[in-house]
Amino acid sequence: MIRLRVFAVSFIFFTFFTCTKNYPQSAPKPDVNQKEDGNNTFFLNVLNKALLPENISANILKAVNENPSFVSGITLILRTDPYLWKLVDKNNSLGESYAPDDLVELKKGSYLVNRKDLTLRKTAADSLEEMAQAAKKEEVTLTASSAYRSYSYQAQVYDRNVREMGKESADRESARPGFSQHQLGLVVDFGSISDAFTGTKEEVWLSRNAWRYGWSLSFPEGMESITGYRWESWHYRYVGAELAKFINDYFNGIQQYALQFLKAYSENKLVQLQNIHNNLLPDIPTQRARRRRGSG
Ligand SMILES: [Zn+2]
Repeated sequence: MIRLRVFAVSFIFFTFFTCTKNYPQSAPKPDVNQKEDGNNTFFLNVLNKALLPENISANILKAVNENPSFVSGITLILRTDPYLWKLVDKNNSLGESYAPDDLVELKKGSYLVNRKDLTLRKTAADSLEEMAQAAKKEEVTLTASSAYRSYSYQAQVYDRNVREMGKESADRESARPGFSQHQLGLVVDFGSISDAFTGTKEEVWLSRNAWRYGWSLSFPEGMESITGYRWESWHYRYVGAELAKFINDYFNGIQQYALQFLKAYSENKLVQLQNIHNNLLPDIPTQRARRRRGSG
């Protein structure tokens, strides 16, 4: 009797399920629509969190829906070394303990060095050499004047700036220890590290070509309210070739926006994955297991 009832119920379910699957040909395909809606909802959440201006948010949504290489580009970037796309700014610190373990000393070669003890992470140093060779072919010599700074060295730099120019001015151009991109070991300050650098052959060449080698200007002109720092025409961060192009293509060349976006994206993705994971997991502990535990 029970077996018969199970059979009947299964039959009804099976019939219902197979019938509902037969959509009339004129109806839109539900799975495609659901995917697009889901994608848009996901990206709207990300954009909300990333605090991007309206025009850039609109660009991104357009790219999500019209340009398949946009989403695959994000995936590609997120697979690179996380420190290449890590947001380090006035609100996002690396902490006191972070120090890269692959620093190499910069040696005068295709580029000049302004002091002896400059170091960078190997990947950035290699790229700097490649970029400097290209610049040299166009009769431009790059000069590295500041590179990796440890937490304690940044503390000295910041304290000196505060002493010399007062806290307000110091905060416009130097980071508190832990909050400096220089601690990543992926940043070079070129030339004179001052406004005198602007308009030099070196500065003009970098502003046109650095992105091709994976370098991005961190604090562009007129973006102080966004980056927290006044225009520093000399401060370039190595982000890798994929991200440098991504910044140009979708974020008007503003590194800060791209990094805010990637941070929000990766955090939302984790939440999404967590939700999927939770939905797939069976309810544990089960009734029986709970009862068993209760009795022990
Ligand atoms: Zn700098």
